[in-house]
Amino acid sequence: MAKIEMKTPLVEMDGDEMTRIIWKMIKDELICPFVGLKTEYYDLGLENRDATDDQVTIDSAEATKRLGVAVKCATITPNAARVEEYGLKQMWKSPNGTIRAILDGTVFRAPIVVAGIDPYVRTWTKPITLARHAYGDVYKNAELRIPGAGKVELVYTPADGGNEQRVLVHEYDGAGVAQGMHNLDASIEGFARASLSYALDTRQDIWFATKDTISKTYDHRFKDIFQEVYENEYKAAFEEAGIEYFYTLIDDAVARVMRSEGGFIWACKNYDGDVMSDMVSSAFGSLAMMTSVLVSPHGYWEYEAAHGTVQRHYYKHLKGQETSTNSVATIFAWSGALRKRGELDGTPDLVAFANKLEQATVATIEAGEMTGDLVAITSHPAPKKLNTQEFIQAVAKRLAE
Ligand code: NAP
Ligand code: MG
Repeated sequence: MAKIEMKTPLVEMDGDEMTRIIWKMIKDELICPFVGLKTEYYDLGLENRDATDDQVTIDSAEATKRLGVAVKCATITPNAARVEEYGLKQMWKSPNGTIRAILDGTVFRAPIVVAGIDPYVRTWTKPITLARHAYGDVYKNAELRIPGAGKVELVYTPADGGNEQRVLVHEYDGAGVAQGMHNLDASIEGFARASLSYALDTRQDIWFATKDTISKTYDHRFKDIFQEVYENEYKAAFEEAGIEYFYTLIDDAVARVMRSEGGFIWACKNYDGDVMSDMVSSAFGSLAMMTSVLVSPHGYWEYEAAHGTVQRHYYKHLKGQETSTNSVATIFAWSGALRKRGELDGTPDLVAFANKLEQATVATIEAGEMTGDLVAITSHPAPKKLNTQEFIQAVAKRLAE
């Protein structure tokens, strides 16, 4: 069988632990037998990030700006334990944080809906897509440990030599901590546009929420910018499409989401999106069934699974024990990237292959062949638990049919 040709390479960002094992299996069994795969390869595994002083992460993001579409494996964000485990030169930053800061943009996470894997929340009959603002706030903050009595202030010094602005954060009479965060009007506007466009593309309502009653300047700015972008650029198209933009307070949004039937985009500030996407994805069944795509307003796409490196399974794998790690979200990262590449290059065969890969994956699970995490939650009458490799091979078999 002739392999499907690719015009432009994907940026391939390899990663760590169990997902690195899965990564190779997916390429070997599901992609390379069918596609003349072209990638520009960047090894974001922790050892290579350390060896290159994290330059490889920056290079991979720059390559994404050049080529447009990237697919990324889950990576370790080092903490103190990892610094010791890998003998790291320093506690490198989160690669995802670095890539998001370079590409700017919004992360959309949507559950992969499969018959027999039912959400824990009874009312959720449709997927909830989470749009996470991927710039600034606590992820790009400045922090201070305050050793003792003293004063912390925020100071703005205008570049044009205008009047300085100064506000008191706190007058300390003992030890404590302080934090400074920022965001940019341009980035918030990009977030609003990406979210509203995605809602329009997918014909779904969009919700946005902040804590503007408490954060009267910072969060309020987000609320105002969203409203402005909506009124000026989207209102008419939304009315024509019969969809709605809905703003509320973040705590009210959380309460309403739990009672909703789903089927909308939930746009969240960076931290809310980080936390709420983990809640939404696990409530939809499994973290391993959540896809993630970073959409940059400049026209770059980076696809990945929402889960991490599945460390516990990797340690079992290293001991020679059998694992049953779910590869679905990583498969969908590849299919998402290949589909987008095909759309941009005008290669319909590649788009069709991406669709077929997703259908084969879903059909495998619906036929009762699945990994252990899904066996534990499925309503399928006779599920069969496959190990990590067997599941990928079961998908490959369907794909070859
Ligand atoms: P995790 O890798 O998402 O795994 C947490 C737990 O969720 C696993 O132990 C497993 O539960 C279950 N799980 C997640 N994905 C699964 C899959 N594909 N198949 C089956 N079960 C799955 O999160 P973590 O253990 O907190 O983090 C591990 C490493 O990943 C950390 O170093 C972290 O920095 C990194 N991380 C990276 C990304 C990213 O690159 N996007 C995101 C998050 C975390 P059981 O053990 O109960 O089976
Ligand atoms: Mg998170």
